[in-house]
Amino acid sequence: MMIKMKWLMRKCSKCKRYTLETGRCPYCGGELFVPHPHRFSPEDKYAKYRIAIKLTKERTLNEA
Ligand SMILES: [Zn+2]
Repeated sequence: MMIKMKWLMRKCSKCKRYTLETGRCPYCGGELFVPHPHRFSPEDKYAKYRIAIKLTKERTLNEA
């Protein structure tokens, strides 16, 4: 229950208050965002991809 509540929470970018509203901040009308961090960011995915490319390249150079 508490975990579910946490995921539904939004934070106001203006007054920094937490709310269960999904549209606008009920206190100041500011924009809301989801405060929890993204566990799988696209950056991490690309980093993994870059490492894979690097390893493939190194292996090709060693074989040549
Ligand atoms: Zn607000």
